Amino acid sequence: MREWIVAGNWKMHNTINESIALAKAIKQGLPVVKNGEIIIAPTFTALFSVGEAISGSKILLAAQNMYYEDKGAFTGEISPGMLKDVGCTYVIIGHSERRKYFHEQDNDVNLKVKKALMAGLKPIMCVGETDEERVKGVTQSVVGRQVKEGLNGVEKIDNIVIAYEPIWAIGTGKVATPEQAQEVHFFIRNILKNLYGGSTVDDIRILYGGSVTKDNIGDLIAMKDINGALVGGASLKADAFLGIIRQISGKK
Ligand code: PEP
Repeated sequence: MREWIVAGNWKMHNTINESIALAKAIKQGLPVVKNGEIIIAPTFTALFSVGEAISGSKILLAAQNMYYEDKGAFTGEISPGMLKDVGCTYVIIGHSERRKYFHEQDNDVNLKVKKALMAGLKPIMCVGETDEERVKGVTQSVVGRQVKEGLNGVEKIDNIVIAYEPIWAIGTGKVATPEQAQEVHFFIRNILKNLYGGSTVDDIRILYGGSVTKDNIGDLIAMKDINGALVGGASLKADAFLGIIRQISGKK
């Protein structure tokens, strides 16, 4: 059974107190969630407190990044074990902002995905093309490469979530049409089928991300291969985030 996911990426926003308040407001307004998962990814400094604030609810905790070593002289980095220790279930890996501003390559993404799995974390691996790449008609080759290289050497895909996030749609208000998104999701699922075999891949969640709101998610989620959303801006207000959750839980 393929469950839907709504994941909120809070990026570098909110103090600890603001994060707790937002988490509590989401917890309070949460509808009864069947066949789905709600995930929030606050900043590292707020993970522990937000974990406490959501305890006893259906909301799961995610980190926005991690390093691929267990421990050592890696100033400023956070290990997968540390994320488990603070209560994370999921970790976002290879977000386009990490790739763009921190120069993460497919190989880094791959090392992180493998290490997260080894530590018992579930990676949400992000892929997506730039505007220029879409215009040039190379969306499939870019996304295909990111998926294959990100999963290189990963034997089991069960605990992995893929997020298709066209870079031109992130934080821009320019959402992909449901058809554009479905085309890429279908393409990604076929790559996974070729790599891992049909039946395993039926249950894999492929999320869409890029300017999702409660007003556009209904049409996106109606698409066969769109299994939820990774939400940035609209996850920073409880009402907006809850609106997306209600739309998805009502349709899937
Ligand atoms: C994101 O950063 O993952 C994202 C999808 O952001 P937004 O919803 O603001 O476009």
